[in-house]
Amino acid sequence: MRMDRGDPLSAYEVINGYSTRRLAEIIRDYGEERFASRIANAIDKARRSAPIETTTELSEIIRSAIPAPARREGPHPAKRTFQAIRIEVNGELAGLEKAVTDACRFLNPGGVIAVITFHSLEDRIVKNVFKDLQHPCTCPPSAPVCICGRKQELEIITAKPLTASGGELTANPRARSAKLRAARRLLQ
Ligand SMILES: [Zn+2]
Repeated sequence: MRMDRGDPLSAYEVINGYSTRRLAEIIRDYGEERFASRIANAIDKARRSAPIETTTELSEIIRSAIPAPARREGPHPAKRTFQAIRIEVNGELAGLEKAVTDACRFLNPGGVIAVITFHSLEDRIVKNVFKDLQHPCTCPPSAPVCICGRKQELEIITAKPLTASGGELTANPRARSAKLRAARRLLQ
């Protein structure tokens, strides 16, 4: 991962420029990191004194944000966060998010969209697109009435994704990671 400042969207910009909340979301969603908030807070604390310039520096900040017992298990503690930042920088999954959103909007009223993914990160994006279109209102909970004007577009059919049955897995082991989610476009 490079930390050059010059790129239009660089790791430097993500780490030093994004809000703590957005950082935490990226680390959680793209890195599947359960200590995302702690890491985002540690990054924020460090960058308040001086911008984070190197991956070594970042790696140490992440390591220190993860509780000691969790640090000892598995790969290097910074690995998930680096993956998350790389995905954000490369926009690797942004194409999928847009494609699923567009597909939902092309549906006729009452039409059904079904998406099968083969990676948990992809599944999460489909899940979040469906959820956003089912509950699009961005008003704060304290608002007495909706003022953002965003209306529900979809109704989720699969509360949990469908996965392959034991029988199917025997016949086709590669179906193991497959997840199917479906939603119906509202009748207006
Ligand atoms: Zn609203």
